[in-house]
Amino acid sequence: MKKGKLIIISGPSGAGKSTIVHALMAQSPGAFFSVSATTRAIRPGEEDGVDYLFVTREAFQELIRTDGLLEWAEYVGNYYGTPAKPVLEKLGQGVDVILDIESRGARQVMDKYPEAISIFVCAPSFAELEKRLRNRGTNTEEDIRRRLIKGRSECEKADMYTYLIVNDDRDKAAAEAAAILVAEGCKNKDHLSGRKGG
Ligand code: 5GP
Repeated sequence: MKKGKLIIISGPSGAGKSTIVHALMAQSPGAFFSVSATTRAIRPGEEDGVDYLFVTREAFQELIRTDGLLEWAEYVGNYYGTPAKPVLEKLGQGVDVILDIESRGARQVMDKYPEAISIFVCAPSFAELEKRLRNRGTNTEEDIRRRLIKGRSECEKADMYTYLIVNDDRDKAAAEAAAILVAEGCKNKDHLSGRKGG
């Protein structure tokens, strides 16, 4: 059976990655969004097991120790990681899997799975990024400051990704994400490997 596509989405907080994730899910019905484990505090409106698996630092370290994570990284003082088992299961079942992860985790996944599709999402400017982070209203001033600094360093890694989406218009960004999946689905080598005679 043909394996699912592994899709990596990265970009600074506030760039609008969730718009892209929604567009990809719409383009690939049945795609699986990987729920990461994190040690950061739950935000208002978030749900444990839906947005993240909120775990203690001890529980996270246990996941690392037992090889339970596909990748992991520390980001503004908290650990984030992708539970390996559900991702590998879904890919094996031919289901596309979407990872929303930062660049160090993305690097680990690209090294293990060079065929992964990688998309970097950025805001049109840092001023716009700051505005979006403030409009969220869920971050403290210190958190916003740290995320902006981190956002700048994340953007320096943008060229390790195959695709770049500048999210200045939600609909345009969503259309670009969908187009990437369409193009990836048309890759000749995939057709050839899945085709029996002609
Ligand atoms: P937030 O705290 O805003 O939800 O996420 C902060 C950053 O952590 C985002 O850039 C997000 O992509 C990244 N992130 C979320 N889950 C994971 C994960 O499982 N692994 C890695 N490496 N980064 C993650």
